[in-house]
Amino acid sequence: MIRAEQLASPNPEQALQASLKELADIKFALDQSTIVAITDQRGIINYVNDEFCRISKYSREELLGQDHRIINSGYHSKEFIRDLWATIAGGKVWKGELRNRAKDGSIYWVDTTIVPFVNSEGKPYQYIAIRHDITQRKLAEEEIRRQAALLDESHDAILVRDLDETIVYWNRGAEVTYGWTADEAIGKDARQLLFDDLPPEFEEAQRELAETGQWRGELNQVTKDGRAIVVESRWTLVHDDKKAPYQKLVVNTDITEEKRLQTELQHAAQLSLVGELAAGLAHEIKNPLAGIQGVVDILLRRRDANDPESEALRGVRNEVDRIDQIVRALLDRARPRVLATQPSSLTEVVRRAVSVARAQIFGRSEGGRIRVQFHPPDDPILLPIDAAQIEDAVLNLIINAIQASEDYGRVDVRILRSPPDETADDLDEVMIEVSDKGPGISEENLSRIFNPFFTTTKGGTGLGLPAVRRIVRAHSGRVGVKSVLGEGSTFTIHLPINDAET
Ligand code: FAD
Repeated sequence: MIRAEQLASPNPEQALQASLKELADIKFALDQSTIVAITDQRGIINYVNDEFCRISKYSREELLGQDHRIINSGYHSKEFIRDLWATIAGGKVWKGELRNRAKDGSIYWVDTTIVPFVNSEGKPYQYIAIRHDITQRKLAEEEIRRQAALLDESHDAILVRDLDETIVYWNRGAEVTYGWTADEAIGKDARQLLFDDLPPEFEEAQRELAETGQWRGELNQVTKDGRAIVVESRWTLVHDDKKAPYQKLVVNTDITEEKRLQTELQHAAQLSLVGELAAGLAHEIKNPLAGIQGVVDILLRRRDANDPESEALRGVRNEVDRIDQIVRALLDRARPRVLATQPSSLTEVVRRAVSVARAQIFGRSEGGRIRVQFHPPDDPILLPIDAAQIEDAVLNLIINAIQASEDYGRVDVRILRSPPDETADDLDEVMIEVSDKGPGISEENLSRIFNPFFTTTKGGTGLGLPAVRRIVRAHSGRVGVKSVLGEGSTFTIHLPINDAET
């Protein structure tokens, strides 16, 4: 703020001349580098410099006698303008950035300082506006904002890492993929934030990026909530204007689901192969087996009961029967069975599986101390299912859990209904959960337990879990498994519910 009396001095005439010269000098200096306008207390323009005319594209004649509304672009709010006026009318300096419209309609931005000149009562009698053209910077900022908004539209996780792996940019897609917000991720070391253990291919990728400027590959990463994901990652080395590498642009696509489907397809292919093999086996083995059975029967009939060879022949007959049973079981597991669905009470189906499992433990000397606890739901759940097949699948999981429990502990069987839809995409489903407190399954084995013939159980066929999965999939469901080494495992059968059917 500049007071009028500051211009007064003992020799009024001389002092006035000196001050006027001083002011003219200051104005000249300002005119060279800045956009200047002077208004009266109502904002009516009574001085503009050449820079003002140049940037606003109005002539001096067009501007003098007008107020600044002539260049108002309609961008700023009433509150913003009110604050400007309240500040300067109160005798204080106002600083801010204004977006103006030139005569030809083009937009320009000015960094503005408005200084009020006040009289002896402290009331402004004129205002001087000093501005700098900041159009280029504002347009660049707008462009950056526009591009950032575009990057945020991408479903891919886009991030920028410094050469020391510090995250400097994190788009909306990255927030969705990893669960970390931009505020949480920026400034963190990408190696620590996105990986449990840094895979060996990471260093290999760094080398390739340094040599060729690019890298592309798959990486196993981890989200904020500890979920393991697989991403297809594309890295590009970004150079500064001196051509020196200074940042890495990373675009990651979450392909976890794709990978899962791929593995499932492989399993399905393996299963159908197993089915064909089993059918072939049955054909090849059953006929000669029937022949042996027939011959042994004839030999047995020809001997009287006390013949010492009869005993041996009966032994052969028993073994042949056992082979026959094994071949049948193999066929039963491997051959896709046609679904015979009808509305059935899930509680009853699971209860039956639990009873059969309990009966089996009862018959075993070992494992007698394992308790199978069933937690039925409060309300009965009626689902269109093939009750026999679902019972088979649940029984399979319970028997596995009992075997894993190693003669102690307990197996819990629960039926749970998923909470009501939170989003339209969420399927309403019912879950049958079988959990044990056994030794758990190692991460390596977890990825293989659904492979046909994979087993860690003595005497196991490795066909149980693939069959469970096949049955559940035939019901449009899925099988999940969670396991912690030393704490136990939980297998879950998820079956979709169509409300019209429940
Ligand atoms: P207006 O109706 O003009 O004003 C909005 C509110 O501001 C009013 O409701 C009132 O609360 C307050 N106000 C308006 N006039 C006065 C006054 N004389 N005394 C006290 N309060 C008042 N505007 C720009 O858009 N770009 C510029 O570069 C620019 N530079 C300026 C430089 C100076 C030195 C001054 C004094 C003003 C400047 N203005 C500038 C403000 C301009 O005069 C207009 O107020 C503004 O453009 C808004 O116009 P409007 O018609 O939307 O609202």
